[in-house]
Amino acid sequence: MPPRQFSVSFMAHILNFLELSPSVSPRIVFFHRHCCWRCNCFDSQISPLALRRRCNSTPPLSNTRQSTASSRSPRIALKNIRIGRMCSSSGKWDANEEIEYLREYLRIPSVHPDPDYKPCLEFLQRQAEDLELPLRVYYPENEQNPIVVLTWEGRQPELPSILLNSHMDVVPVFPENWKHPPFAAEMDEEGRIFARGAQDMKSVGMQYLAAIRALKKEGARLKRTIHISFVADEEMGGRRGMRPFVTTDHFRALNVGFGMDEGLASPDEEFPVFYAERAVWRVYFNISGTAGHGSLLLPKTAGEKLDYVVSKMMEMRKSQEQRLKSDPDLVIGDVTTINLTRVSGGVQSNVVPPLMVVCFDCRLALDVDHEEFEAKLHKWCEEAGGDIELTYEQKQPRVPPTAIDSSNPFWMAFKEATDELGLCVRPQIFTGGTDSRYIRQMGIPALGFSPMNHTPVLLHDHDEFIRADTYLRGVDIYTKIIGNIANV
Ligand SMILES: [Zn+2]
Repeated sequence: MPPRQFSVSFMAHILNFLELSPSVSPRIVFFHRHCCWRCNCFDSQISPLALRRRCNSTPPLSNTRQSTASSRSPRIALKNIRIGRMCSSSGKWDANEEIEYLREYLRIPSVHPDPDYKPCLEFLQRQAEDLELPLRVYYPENEQNPIVVLTWEGRQPELPSILLNSHMDVVPVFPENWKHPPFAAEMDEEGRIFARGAQDMKSVGMQYLAAIRALKKEGARLKRTIHISFVADEEMGGRRGMRPFVTTDHFRALNVGFGMDEGLASPDEEFPVFYAERAVWRVYFNISGTAGHGSLLLPKTAGEKLDYVVSKMMEMRKSQEQRLKSDPDLVIGDVTTINLTRVSGGVQSNVVPPLMVVCFDCRLALDVDHEEFEAKLHKWCEEAGGDIELTYEQKQPRVPPTAIDSSNPFWMAFKEATDELGLCVRPQIFTGGTDSRYIRQMGIPALGFSPMNHTPVLLHDHDEFIRADTYLRGVDIYTKIIGNIANV
């Protein structure tokens, strides 16, 4: 579908989007220069794990505000926080326009299933007018799933641009489990703003805009063009949003050289930054076997084959569990996870069925060779007695990580900004999935970063919130980062 033009009254011109293909194809040499998350030091000679091990005996830079126990359990951390008297607004923040913009956006119930994005579009159009930026809307899949892009043209618009991506959709709520209405954006006296999307990730989308507002007020004019995208359908895997969008000519015309997207809140001092994601494989073993009477001992039944396949998969799961347990420096994103998620088959309890189906959700770590992994699955099917068909609900390719070393000037600019601000940044692999993978899949480096530390991780949870001061500090952080990465 062609992009729909929105007339922005003051705008005398519409951007001529450049018909250039992304020219940045980063060299992936990420085991080269490493940062230790505990003490923020670099060492180019050893691996990140070895570096972290070496520094394990040294205390982290800053004391964390919450106990180790509460860091491990966001729910405990939340319980430990005193619930203040509720009011519609905390006086301290009343006059802050950025807080009001955030709350206005949070009040839009763009919630699954079937989110209505029209109020988001109207809200973003008003933002574009306020920021004096042109806005375009794309429909890569259908009318119900728009992608909104605001553009701030740089001094050198021919250079590859910066993409600041966020999603407009939020996951469903169970209002009966919320202490505050999930789409009222109530603020308590401590300045905590409660709403679905407060962390995931309407806050980050608004931080981008607030940062650009601050930069424009300072009179800044950055070298590279910045596109701020607000996409649909991320919470459903981006199948109607970012996934089709990156393959369109419209996306190519944006000439993106580097992307930023969501990360996670952090309950302690650290700020996680995500440079890669594991590959999701949802594997179905469709197991055929000898059918017959339940009183016999028939050969090659589906049940026996299922037993063999499941035991092999569980052995592999155990080895990964062991690997994770035995090395305290590893996090879940560093290993392959395997989980049995569905089993079906059989029609009657005394009939040996001709077919059993078992499904595993596998997240392949970055060090897994996909061909070898698949060959192993086929081998086990043969060893189980054969006649097993493998089908995939999802089979993501291996997407190379974004380089976090001197080969990636955008990483260096990002790190310089966070170092200057004295932030304790911890690079890691994302546990779940975000739209960043589609950006990286196009050969574009991307980082996931939500500047929310000392905040319990409440994405997809009840009473999701962000503190007003945390939010505003995040705006300052993004102002610095954007200023740096757009001047590379
Ligand atoms: Zn999200």
